[in-house]
Amino acid sequence: MAPVTVLITGASGFIALHVIDELLRKGYRVIGTVRSQSKADKITAQFKKVYPDGDLSFELVEDIAAEGAFNDVFKKHPEITEVLHTASPFSFGLNKSFEDAYLTPATKGTQHVLEAIKEYAPQVKHVVVTSSFAAIANRSKSGDKSFIHTEDTWNPIEWSDVDDQYKAYTASKKCAEVLARKFVEAEKPNFTLTTVNPPYVLGPQLFEDALENPTLNTSAEIVHQLLSTPADYAEYLSAPVGLSVDVRDVAKLHVLPIEKDSLAGLRLFPVNGAFNGQTLLNIIHNSFPELDGKVGKGKPEGAEEQVAKTQAYYDTTKTQQATGLTWIPLEKTVKDSVAQILSYKAHKL
Ligand code: NDP
Repeated sequence: MAPVTVLITGASGFIALHVIDELLRKGYRVIGTVRSQSKADKITAQFKKVYPDGDLSFELVEDIAAEGAFNDVFKKHPEITEVLHTASPFSFGLNKSFEDAYLTPATKGTQHVLEAIKEYAPQVKHVVVTSSFAAIANRSKSGDKSFIHTEDTWNPIEWSDVDDQYKAYTASKKCAEVLARKFVEAEKPNFTLTTVNPPYVLGPQLFEDALENPTLNTSAEIVHQLLSTPADYAEYLSAPVGLSVDVRDVAKLHVLPIEKDSLAGLRLFPVNGAFNGQTLLNIIHNSFPELDGKVGKGKPEGAEEQVAKTQAYYDTTKTQQATGLTWIPLEKTVKDSVAQILSYKAHKL
């Protein structure tokens, strides 16, 4: 039987590379969309070393927000039966309006994928969209133990509430998920839709040469940056604050809906812990005593209690029961990330 062909958008991303790894490991044929040929060439060479017989190719989609961005991809590849839409901007400090930086690519990108499938690829069976905890989180309930975020919780934010780049990102992700779900409801296409709604995705880079860059993708950069804490830093490190999940679990959650029809329609919500800068620093120092005197320790005492006062409370039982997965613990996620960075520095720098 011919292998199943999966299209993954935003194939150069931190999460997407792990998803491609999972797909190739399982024998899928993968077509990725990237913005430039140089990215396609680089990723092809990287995966060739791991999967010499892996079936991976690329199509260029320079801007997912451009009208008809995906039409040619689906016209050219009638063999695509599965679509994973991960592409969306997740960086801050962009020199653009909030609409141009976040809302337009997030919503138009999603709309263009779904429209192109409906028009040119009626054979597609499953679509997975990378949404976010941003579409779930109710920020006014942070620290409220009686408010439990689940797969059924929706962030009340509207685009009209946006007055900073963080709210713009958050609202763009919510709007994109709402759009995708309304599309399916209204158009009743041949495919099913599942969303993956992770909080901060931490963990190692799939290929360590991503560490050549001075900064990593937004979420992985959190741990990376903590390793630059000045050695004499002795204040409590309250920021950043968030919920987390391991990138390797997020990758599995993107692939499972292709294999399990029972995941159709669901929001998959994984969480392995709540953190702030200090709890992450504590994990780093507990795991790597050799960093003593090189990386600041902040103020380790009472860190967990502080997190408990500000965190979003959550329950991911529904996702765990539906998928059969349990989450890689946060300690391992952080440990594996730091080990990769230290090993890279030791032999490359
Ligand atoms: P990355 O920044 O590593 O990846 C984003 C991907 O989207 C890149 O491939 C990027 O291309 C592509 N992209 C962005 N804008 C456009 C555009 N206008 N046209 C074409 N391609 C575009 O981020 P992550 O891997 O972390 O994020 C992937 C997805 O996961 C996003 O949808 C994000 O919102 C979501 N997410 C991420 C979380 C996290 O903590 N990392 C948490 C929750 C959700 P290029 O490489 O060329 O820039």
